[in-house]
Amino acid sequence: MIVAGNWKMFAGPDPRALAEELAGLGGVETIVCPPYTALAACVAAGLTTYAQNVHWADEGAYTGEISPPLLLALGVHGSLVGHSERRHHFGETDEGVARRASAALAAGLGVIACVGETQEERDEGATETVLRIQVDAIRDACGANERLVVAYEPVWAIGTGRTATPETAQEAHALIKTLLDRPVLYGGSVKPENAAELLEQPDVDGALVGGASLDVDSFASICEAAARIRS
Ligand code: PEP
Repeated sequence: MIVAGNWKMFAGPDPRALAEELAGLGGVETIVCPPYTALAACVAAGLTTYAQNVHWADEGAYTGEISPPLLLALGVHGSLVGHSERRHHFGETDEGVARRASAALAAGLGVIACVGETQEERDEGATETVLRIQVDAIRDACGANERLVVAYEPVWAIGTGRTATPETAQEAHALIKTLLDRPVLYGGSVKPENAAELLEQPDVDGALVGGASLDVDSFASICEAAARIRS
């Protein structure tokens, strides 16, 4: 089980307080994805630390981007790629997401690659097609790399308070695993109250948590639920 917290563009909790709270939790791998300014403090606190994005080039004239070697030099362990907020607010494409994932893996970083359909795509019955296109792009670039994890994050469930039902999540996770044989995390309004029922699904291998990861107690309680389920 893997539980990752995406702090987005929020300061997030105190890394040392979080590390203390998570210390000694067995059966779950915990990851934090803080804003860039908090990466070093999270590494120093002993947290497994991922950036929220990473570029494919080692260096260059790419203002506002960060490269795999720069993250590695800071002691960062991996990165998210393809978060829906990157895809939808910043125009990231399947091709770009795949390039980012592949470069990060080649450099030795871990990668959580996010995929998921919008409400409109679900309503049109296009969920399977969208997931196939997004996952195929990542698989073609990266293969079933052992440092690659997929996160299924239906866009309509992110930050909305609307969580996928356990059955909806399970169905999408099972499909993704037929395309790419790697662990799949569920993301979309995961909270302490709904974590267990989602994490109990056979193809749900963990959670990617946004809002509820900003509070030490709620993130720890999701991590504890994960630890209880498959330990
Ligand atoms: C996310 O940011 O990846 C996410 C799933 O957010 P939330 O848990 O707030 O829906």
